[in-house]
Amino acid sequence: MDGTRDNDIQAVVDADRAHVWHHLTQHKPFEEAEPRIIIEGKGMRVWDQNGKEYIDAVSGAVWTVNVGYGRESIANAVQEQLMKMCYFAQAAGSIPGSKFAEKLISKMPGMSRVYYCNAGSEANEKVFKMVRQISHKKYGGKKNKILYRDRDYHGSSLATMSAGGQDERNLQYGPFAPGFVRVPHCMEYRKDELGLGHLEGEAFGIAAANLIEDVILREGPDTIGLLCLEPVTAGGGVITPPEGYWPRVQEICKKYDILLHIDEVVCGIGRTGTWFGYQQYGIQPDFVTMAKGVASGYAAIACMVATEEVFDCFKSDPSDKLDHFRDISTFGGCAGGPAAALENMRIIEDEGLLENCEKMGERFFANLEALKEKHAVIGDVRGKGLFLGAELVKDRDSKEPVDEAQVGAVVAACGAMGVIIGASNRSVPGRNNVLCFSPSLIVTAEDVDKITDTVDQALTQVFG
Ligand code: PMP
Repeated sequence: MDGTRDNDIQAVVDADRAHVWHHLTQHKPFEEAEPRIIIEGKGMRVWDQNGKEYIDAVSGAVWTVNVGYGRESIANAVQEQLMKMCYFAQAAGSIPGSKFAEKLISKMPGMSRVYYCNAGSEANEKVFKMVRQISHKKYGGKKNKILYRDRDYHGSSLATMSAGGQDERNLQYGPFAPGFVRVPHCMEYRKDELGLGHLEGEAFGIAAANLIEDVILREGPDTIGLLCLEPVTAGGGVITPPEGYWPRVQEICKKYDILLHIDEVVCGIGRTGTWFGYQQYGIQPDFVTMAKGVASGYAAIACMVATEEVFDCFKSDPSDKLDHFRDISTFGGCAGGPAAALENMRIIEDEGLLENCEKMGERFFANLEALKEKHAVIGDVRGKGLFLGAELVKDRDSKEPVDEAQVGAVVAACGAMGVIIGASNRSVPGRNNVLCFSPSLIVTAEDVDKITDTVDQALTQVFG
């Protein structure tokens, strides 16, 4: 981009203002100001309609472009596939669909079957439907409730919102679907809220998991079919699980015969430094869903992955018309998706991006810890790999969140200095007070330092 605005770009801006409805956006300000339009991307950088260059520290705003922008090899893989065979409903198979499923499962010991669809919300709903069907097949329809956790997010459809742990997102969209039950969060920083303020480390983690057991016993174990959790909570405030939490969660699921669904829509495909977030914690799920990083945004693809045991529940005599999974996702048959996903995985492997993620994640975390020493407004730093958050509070003792407008000012100040960061996370309903970072897995030490230096300056500008 050369920084000048030609007529074509102006026409794009005009058409956007006239006709495009942006996601998560109040449009009133666009009567005066222009919306940001991203025109180009290369590696870690993007350019807007004014030719302004940014380091993208959030991989396409929502943790998606894991291998960075402008990857010719992915574009070529998609083009070749589209010219050979663009689409056929996934009731039939495809070459990239088979190859990617095989490759994916090779990274997921214990898992077996891949169901293709378009979006994270949709993949999660597939699991919810399967669990309801399994409850009919095996438990007379009774074991059908779905447990979800305070502050977790699973999507924008009404069923996934019914499993939504961020109250402020759900306001004005009810009524929601029945059969979804909330369990408490596991956030160590705010353990007082859970009545567990006296516990440290593993003792806290186990006690936080036991809060799930309390809900199960209250509801009746024979009514609960599924526990659905994010491995590291993303939009709810980048909440890393405490030590001892996950093994106890797994034990509880086994004890009460409850299927475990890990929503890897954000963590999946490398974000935390392993292929999947759950692999950091040594657990074995029954379902895993993934979307954003699967093809790094080069094609729309999401996957629901299940064990062979789950799959077997849906195999039987074809004369029983109710026995298979009676579901379809039209665009789950787009062959460009798995073609892009296969090349995306090759890049991550061949370029050692999981290793880079771990190494750069440590550097990023250490830089944020150093900022915490300097800025009293940072109450807590959390994260795993290149998935990090810094929670901003008015006072470290009260932990009261800073005003949302101040967080917006930090984000805007970073943007003005050419770094895009996020703050869509919440630790308290209605308050966006967690700065969020998720750069592409290709990020260099220099860029990590540039991002955190910019945040340093922005915090000084806003909070002194
Ligand atoms: N699960 C999690 C953890 C997410 O963060 C998101 C999206 N932010 C979703 C599910 C929903 O994915 P999609 O927007 O692709 O439907």
